[in-house]
Amino acid sequence: MQRYSLHIGGDACEPHGGTWFETQNPFTGESWAQIPRGDAQDVDRAVRAAHQALTSGPWSELTATQRGALMRRLGDLIARDAARLAATEVRDNGKLLAEMRGQLDYIPQWFYYYGGLADKVQGSTLPLDKKGYFAFTRHEPVGVVAAITPWNSPLLLLAWKLAPALAAGCTVVAKPSEFTSASTLEFAQLFEEAGFPPGVFNVVTGFGAEVGTPLVEHPLVAKISFTGSDSTGRLINERAGRLLKHTAMELGGKSPNVVFEDADLEQAAFGAISGIFAATGQTCIAGSRLLVQDSVHDAFVERLLAVARTARMGDPMSADTQVGPITTPPQYRKVLEYIDIARAEGATAVLGGAKGTGPECGTGWFVQPTIFTGVRNDMRIAQEEVFGPVLSVIRFEDEADALRIANDVRFGLAAAVWTQDIGRAMRMSEKLQAGTVWINTYRAVSFMAPFGGYKDSGLGRENGIDAVREYLQTKSVWINAGAATGNPFVMR
Ligand code: NAD
Repeated sequence: MQRYSLHIGGDACEPHGGTWFETQNPFTGESWAQIPRGDAQDVDRAVRAAHQALTSGPWSELTATQRGALMRRLGDLIARDAARLAATEVRDNGKLLAEMRGQLDYIPQWFYYYGGLADKVQGSTLPLDKKGYFAFTRHEPVGVVAAITPWNSPLLLLAWKLAPALAAGCTVVAKPSEFTSASTLEFAQLFEEAGFPPGVFNVVTGFGAEVGTPLVEHPLVAKISFTGSDSTGRLINERAGRLLKHTAMELGGKSPNVVFEDADLEQAAFGAISGIFAATGQTCIAGSRLLVQDSVHDAFVERLLAVARTARMGDPMSADTQVGPITTPPQYRKVLEYIDIARAEGATAVLGGAKGTGPECGTGWFVQPTIFTGVRNDMRIAQEEVFGPVLSVIRFEDEADALRIANDVRFGLAAAVWTQDIGRAMRMSEKLQAGTVWINTYRAVSFMAPFGGYKDSGLGRENGIDAVREYLQTKSVWINAGAATGNPFVMR
């Protein structure tokens, strides 16, 4: 069995406590690697290495142009190793090889884009209401960043934090999910090869209470950039608030996918299916609430079923597989529990609604692609994040009704509208309470487009030019250019 090391100060090192824990392959349920079980002492070492790199090492002496060049080199190395890193992710999180390879092939773009931005961060000369002074702003790195990531897309979601943080000149300590740490540990080895000074990027693996908490509370960590569940996000934000640290929170979702009667129904059916069954529904932007106009409801559900019935479960490494296993045993139990809850609430499973147990599922943690009809928006299955392949179909009468239902949820990560009416598309995109609204498409994301949540889906934005600002702090510099420094006891 493969045994991994922590990555601290440019070195692969053993955890302080000398213990490792096993990580499982969701398709077989079997352990395949040993992950270092970090603790508060490992966190302290990693944060100190990051702080030293930030304040006195060669990283702090580099020009922004030199930082950008290192980032582009890192992008090239990720592209070179994309196949290997994607295979590691599949072994660890059970998502389809096609999806993880697609992500790994795309991740270099984050380092090229933000590498290019690094030397375009500029302050401004300030107009002033006082004579005899000259003032300007500098945008400086916010400090050591703690990047805490979930299990569904480990390296992609890390890149969303890491690339703008490096462009800003920050240094980073990453804590990946205990369920999917292997790819982040492999990725860390590329840093020194790319020529980054030691300590710029560090990884401490382990559990939330043993690594996450000391990392969040470490006095030398200035910012916590977190992606994960809203319950953990709230806890971290409370602690960080008490310690006056900066935070960015990318949390969960319960996104409405709204189909009007005038939509291209075939396209909308494909969009609805990919919105919920891609990644086995284990994505924050899952279109888990499908709102369908009354007049086309039955016909549309038929179309959905026709497409969804063809979904093939199986080995995520195989090119034929369309729906993989659930990544973790607790998540597997949670999805099955929500299926029971939906039935108890009176929803009807018109597809799936059970474990996947056929020979194609091996010994993996499979849940059948599941569609519930007869869902009311006040049911738990319509309000709570399942994070699995479970779709709730909800009827609506007209545009006002659709809008009311779509916004009647505590999350606000994403939403989609399917219509041929441009006026309706514009009205809906304005009124939907979500950080991303798609018109006649689903799941499109890019390094260029800001991404983040309204309401309980989070704070701050990732991606796009402004994401660099999340890792900067602004300093105003005042120069006396001829004003007399007068008697301090006489107010001017
Ligand atoms: P989680 O909240 O359980 O864990 C996320 C990370 O936080 C893990 O690394 C975990 O070890 C760590 N953690 C746990 N307790 C901690 C603590 N007390 N202090 C510090 N760190 C701690 O989330 P998950 O189950 O890994 O991921 C699924 C969730 O992530 C879903 O809710 C999903 O919607 C969300 N998510 C959001 C986005 C987004 O961009 N908005 C993207 C992907 C996933």
